[in-house]
Amino acid sequence: MGAVFCRTVGWVLVSCGLMSLLEYHIHKHLMHRRKLPEWFYHHIPELARVFEDHHLLHHHKYYRIFDYEPDLVGRYLNISLNPWLGVFYGSFVWIPLFFFSSPGSLIFVFTIIAHHLLWSALHQEMHVPSRSFLSHLSLYQYLARYHWMHHAYPGANYNIVFPLMDFFLKTHRCPSQDDKRAMRLVGL
Ligand SMILES: [Zn+2]
Ligand SMILES: [Zn+2]
Repeated sequence: MGAVFCRTVGWVLVSCGLMSLLEYHIHKHLMHRRKLPEWFYHHIPELARVFEDHHLLHHHKYYRIFDYEPDLVGRYLNISLNPWLGVFYGSFVWIPLFFFSSPGSLIFVFTIIAHHLLWSALHQEMHVPSRSFLSHLSLYQYLARYHWMHHAYPGANYNIVFPLMDFFLKTHRCPSQDDKRAMRLVGL
């Protein structure tokens, strides 16, 4: 195998691991908590909106049942991520990385975009099922059950696309028999 191929695969794996770490911490600390100094929320209103839209609205006002939210506004609120915003916020990683490895930096940018598109497609299918081809994949069903557990226990299962850091940081939670019964009621 060529050295370029091995390096590319290496950077893809590193980027996915890094994305899992970012997905975990952003979801846990920015989407579910409001613990930064008030200065940040005042000067970057997007930060306050991320917490309100996700923790207060997506988790606690809407989606009390996992899918088919009856409120038309709540049904699509916080369901998808903007990949370009992800590239913008991810610049604190990929700009310094560029000076170390330009191919590594480029692969990380592609990983951010792919992650955000996948996050949006998976999250939408989980909460607004269209029974697309995605829903028949066993990997999708695993991730949907994983996210069901996060809605039932918001202190667990923070990863959505790359469920890796929950295992490392011991926030992964397995479903009980009651959880499995409840999941079956929504077709999971
Ligand atoms: Zn959700
Ligand atoms: Zn959440």
